[in-house]
Amino acid sequence: MNLECRHVWQHISGYLDQQLDPELLATVQKHLDTCEVCSAIIDSTRNILILTADDRTYELPIGYSQRLHEKLNAFLAGGSSG
Ligand SMILES: [Zn+2]
Repeated sequence: MNLECRHVWQHISGYLDQQLDPELLATVQKHLDTCEVCSAIIDSTRNILILTADDRTYELPIGYSQRLHEKLNAFLAGGSSG
């Protein structure tokens, strides 16, 4: 079973919070091993969570997620023939 990038993005917070099912976690992890885009997203998102983790709030800065997705969509539309 292959996971598309956009599906991985939906699971990023669960992945970082270690709340994914073992089976899903393995699938996401496998994707991350082969996808530079998603592994970069995980890295940057993790950094943001660390910076904002004072009260264990997992809300990203307003607009961050939307802008991130726009960037990713543009990247995928222009860079991948899928
Ligand atoms: Zn990916």
